[in-house]
Amino acid sequence: MKVYFVEDWLDGLYLGVQIESVVYTTRTKFQELAIFDTVEFGRMLTLDNVIQVTEVDEYIYHECIAHVPLLTHPDPKRVLLIGGGDGGTLREITRHQNIESITMVDIDEGVIEASKKYLPGFNQGFYDPRLNLVIQDGSVFVSETEERFDVIIIDSTDPEGPGEVLFTTEFYQSLRRLLTPSGIMCAQTESPLVMTQTVKDIYHRIADVFPITKIFNVPMACYPGGWWCFTCGSLGPDPEKPLREPEESWNLKFYSPEVHEKVFILGPKLKRDLGIRE
Ligand code: SAM
Repeated sequence: MKVYFVEDWLDGLYLGVQIESVVYTTRTKFQELAIFDTVEFGRMLTLDNVIQVTEVDEYIYHECIAHVPLLTHPDPKRVLLIGGGDGGTLREITRHQNIESITMVDIDEGVIEASKKYLPGFNQGFYDPRLNLVIQDGSVFVSETEERFDVIIIDSTDPEGPGEVLFTTEFYQSLRRLLTPSGIMCAQTESPLVMTQTVKDIYHRIADVFPITKIFNVPMACYPGGWWCFTCGSLGPDPEKPLREPEESWNLKFYSPEVHEKVFILGPKLKRDLGIRE
């Protein structure tokens, strides 16, 4: 018998992922968490029945959300990561030896504990001595902290449930306040194909707050529409122009300087639909 995990992407569109076994399920303080072994996607984490990461395509997302902002900043020393409880983005951030401190703020300790135990390919960053792990709502953290950061990365769930507060104008204003003068932030910002209005709203909220705002896009088989985007808000560096290259020893699978420049190319329809400001 074939058993499928089914995610309702939209009314009339769903994704079915054949399951080999259920590895772990729990109800954390904030979310329904499940980890499966799947036939095509390898190990997969879901929160509230929404796929968060799969072993097969996670590197595309995690390498880009981390290395695009970190390699366009001239010299990032202090980094803030909000969300990212599965550890994939943290793994990529910790590859950068020039970074001195990494503050990670996730609302849900249950996600981190499960990832440490059941996602061995993702979790090495949790053991990095530069990490300061804070269990708190990211929107509260950014409104209260007096710390300053060179790069801020938002690896959140979708804009509903606990992640909703991480997509507001107030939140983006707080991020701007926390950034140092050449600071840059990069956030996951949903599917350009099937959530175009959401992407547009987020883009304009960020563009109203940051002097430079740019969207980049990547293929992601496990997310709605198979196509995902990220939005960078910058106080100085051009997010499209990497200033440094990744180390060969990082053995990256998707990101390269060439890919960096290409992912910022948006087709004419998408530019029009999003009302991109040139
Ligand atoms: N890559 C994934 C995606 O695009 O669906 C996101 C992965 S990561 C598991 C998302 C993390 O955001 C979760 O660990 C969740 O606990 C965290 N999160 C959600 N709302 C949050 C909030 N308000 N503050 C901090 N972390 C939050």
